[in-house]
This record gives sequence, structure tokens and C-alpha cells, in this order.
Amino acid sequence: MEITKDVYTFDVVKCEVCQFENCHPIDVQIAIGDHTITVAHEGIRIDPPPNFTRRGVIIAITFMCENGDHQFSLNYAFHKGSTSKSRLIGPKLKNFPYVIWRD
Ligand SMILES: [Zn+2]
Repeated sequence: MEITKDVYTFDVVKCEVCQFENCHPIDVQIAIGDHTITVAHEGIRIDPPPNFTRRGVIIAITFMCENGDHQFSLNYAFHKGSTSKSRLIGPKLKNFPYVIWRD
């Protein structure tokens, strides 16, 4: 993307369960066509699409919160010319997963 105007915005991702500000990205998923591409600590994985049928593309970023191992995702879904945003809350994590950028 070419930057044509310098607009600075900064917003910290907060936990969707407790609003804590220390949230770690644990994976990014892109569901498109017949595949879901996941980027995580382990590398890149290609799986079948989610169980639900949807045209377009879904981009989901999954986070884990340091305050209670809460898990949630921020999702963008593109379909028929519009993009929607949603937030999903998952089950509490039993183990601290690796974040994307750590060895
Ligand atoms: Zn939390």
C-alpha cells in the first residue's frame, strides 16, 4: 500500500472478556475458497475451510490475554462488496500458547 496521507492512529487491543491491555496474537487465519491458511508460531498451515459455508474471505486474528488466559478473535469478513467486523470469545486456555513472533 502506498501511503498518500500520514494519519497516525494508535489503539491498544484490549481483551474482549476483561478489557486487560496485554493481549498476545497467537495466530492469523485467512479463510478463502477451499482453504484456511493459518500463520502461527509453528509456521504456516493450510486446512479445509471452516464448517460454515460463506462466500468471500474471512480474516481472523486470535489473541490471548495475560489476565486469565482469555482467548478471543477479531474477524473481518468480506462478502458482496462490504466488509464486516466481529469479535468472538473462545474457551479459556489451559496453557500459554506461543505467540506468532517468538522462537
Ligand atoms: Zn482477559
